[in-house]
Amino acid sequence: MGAARSLQAAIRTIPDFPEPGIQFKDITPLLADPVLLEAAVGCLAEPYVGQGIDKVVGIESRGFILGSMLALRLGAGFVPVRKKGKLPHKTIRAAYGLEYGSDVIEMHVDALTLGERVLIHDDVIATGGTAAACFDLVSQVGATVVGYSFLIELSLLNGRVKLPDGVAFNALLEA
Ligand code: AMP
Repeated sequence: MGAARSLQAAIRTIPDFPEPGIQFKDITPLLADPVLLEAAVGCLAEPYVGQGIDKVVGIESRGFILGSMLALRLGAGFVPVRKKGKLPHKTIRAAYGLEYGSDVIEMHVDALTLGERVLIHDDVIATGGTAAACFDLVSQVGATVVGYSFLIELSLLNGRVKLPDGVAFNALLEA
């Protein structure tokens, strides 16, 4: 089996979790397999090797897992973006729309410096709202988003149209 098919086979779909109608993509079987884990990190890193990435910004919470490994592989630092109220130091924030209402994500104000080259990572892109808000956070401090990196794109939701033009987009798997 090729790497992509082996990775796809290790994603478990849990119907109606955490609420009715959601087909939740559970990546824990992939994470538990050292060969697949190595393959996933290698494939995620590949488009960005040699691109001068200074920081990988990972989105809470599953974006922290592969995101920090991706940072290590690219020789970059790792920056967590979290739901509001979770980060201990002074933060900046960005709001994004949900089906009903809106939510807020935050990043430490000093997590990035002017001109740093950033890769944004999450395990899944669904509607794209969180990833778009993350671009807003990075831009607020004058850093540059070079690209997006996702393990899985829920392509029917077409979340990538919410992301800014001219920024590289890579998703390893489609679901
Ligand atoms: P989005 O709708 O793209 O803003 O996604 C919001 C967050 O929820 C992201 O961090 C995704 O990783 C997560 N997420 C959304 N839908 C799913 C799903 N079907 N399975 C697993 N994670 C999901």
